[in-house]
Amino acid sequence: MSQHTPPAPPRVVIIGGGLAGLAAAVGLAGHDLNITLLESRPRLGGRASSFPDPATGELVDNCQHVSMVCCTNLADFCRRVGTDNLFRREQAVLFLSPEGRYSTLEAGPLPAPFHLAQSFLSANYLTVFERLRVAYGLACLRFAAKPSDEPFAQWLSRHGQTPRTIERYWATVLISALNERLERMDIGHARKVFVDGFLRNRDGYKMELPLVPLGELYGSRLETWLASRDVDVRLTTGVRSVNLNSEGTIGGVTLRSGEVIGAEFVVLAVPFDRVASLLPEAVRSRIISLSRLGEFESSPITGVHLWFDREVCPVDHVVTVGRLVQWVFNHTALQGRRGNGDSGQYLQIVISASYDLLPLDNAAIKEAVLADLAAIWPKSKDAVLERWRVVTEHGATFAVRPGIEEIRPRQRTAIEGLFLAGDWTDTGWPATMEGAVRSGYKAAEGVLADLDRPEPLIQPELPESRLARLLLGRPSSGGSG
Ligand SMILES: Cc1cc2nc3c(=O)[nH]c(=O)nc-3n(C[C@H](O)[C@H](O)[C@H](O)COP(=O)(O)OP(=O)(O)OC[C@H]3O[C@@H](n4cnc5c(N)ncnc54)[C@H](O)[C@@H]3O)c2cc1C
Repeated sequence: MSQHTPPAPPRVVIIGGGLAGLAAAVGLAGHDLNITLLESRPRLGGRASSFPDPATGELVDNCQHVSMVCCTNLADFCRRVGTDNLFRREQAVLFLSPEGRYSTLEAGPLPAPFHLAQSFLSANYLTVFERLRVAYGLACLRFAAKPSDEPFAQWLSRHGQTPRTIERYWATVLISALNERLERMDIGHARKVFVDGFLRNRDGYKMELPLVPLGELYGSRLETWLASRDVDVRLTTGVRSVNLNSEGTIGGVTLRSGEVIGAEFVVLAVPFDRVASLLPEAVRSRIISLSRLGEFESSPITGVHLWFDREVCPVDHVVTVGRLVQWVFNHTALQGRRGNGDSGQYLQIVISASYDLLPLDNAAIKEAVLADLAAIWPKSKDAVLERWRVVTEHGATFAVRPGIEEIRPRQRTAIEGLFLAGDWTDTGWPATMEGAVRSGYKAAEGVLADLDRPEPLIQPELPESRLARLLLGRPSSGGSG
């Protein structure tokens, strides 16, 4: 009897342990592959992660992360790794007008795409005429499908929107959703938020809020899950370069330590501004889709963490219209986390596209936020602020400026065995966790297809009614494996 040594499983190296790299690893796990995931930081999760507060040791998120029910791939990812029960689904989005009045956006009895019409028409931060004006703008946006160089702010002015409807409605929703100013925003992405996110399906707009810190959700839980699937996760392991072999196909990677790891497949899942340093010029010049890499820009987000000695915010979360503070999340209500005493309250404030805050130091930002909270809830002036932290991520997301879709590269590259992933690659989605997971799944689909083991990982969009399809047309999509 002759003994056969089974061939060694193909080796896959994934560079980057953010959601894109994690999704690639999760998609490939269980396919008899030798998978190594290399992450330069001491934790997984990338931009969706937490750090230990030096004062207390408790995990503090770099910033609140919100997902929506229309994020079908992120939901699938969480289901696969068993963390889908760690979210709270919100039926309503609460808005607070500059005059201090609350209103909710919530699905009513009408079918999609009219399910939000009833609650929108009672939005008290707009006058009746302004609501009709916005409704007209939304109807026009449905037809704004062609790629255009025109910034969204200009498009809005051309479609009957006034400075007040722009500030109170369009800016309020879109700056939080897309992390960009309207003057620098791509129309297609604005359309995607409203048409594909809010209108296509009755549940699509609903928020999913984490019940645990991000460091657990996309960090420790993932480490355990990947280890149980024999994925070799190496933290604090930065990659210096991606290597080709003499045939010009992928050979592996060299670590910053000098160690070389051989691989038939490399998934490069790092932010756009890290790609050039990891791919030698000779490699990059062969990937035409990367020729416009230098045109990507990023937008900042500021997260402000405030621990008060008593209740300041009476609701679980609220979008504040026309203010510096854009979104308040009450982490005492959402995650049971408090300040020092039992009566304390922990709030996370999110300020997207925070360009105006960049020249300020953290203490000045904290003071500006406290002044805004005092204007919203005057009783907060009596509360003692026990601790605070300001975290500004300068490169929070790639800027969704006009023309961005033309320069986003696909996941498959011209080099055999090399795949790209990351929220900035061609997914059709803005810089979101959903976009990152999609890109990782697409890269993993590409690896499996090259091994003649094709498996679809990308999840279908939410189902849409005939009426929605008739009135809204086809959803926008992007990328391929
Ligand atoms: C403040 C903030 C708020 C946000 N809010 C939301 C939100 O509410 N909802 C939402 O959907 N999205 C939100 N996002 C966006 C979301 O976090 C990102 O789109 C997503 O996490 C990107 O994942 P990624 O894997 O593409 O990139 P990253 O998370 O950046 O992962 C890339 C990883 O590569 C690693 N790396 C880089 N270079 C190397 C190297 N040489 N060797 C090894 N590893 C390397 C990095 O350390 C990093 O961990 C927010 C982002 C920020 C910053």
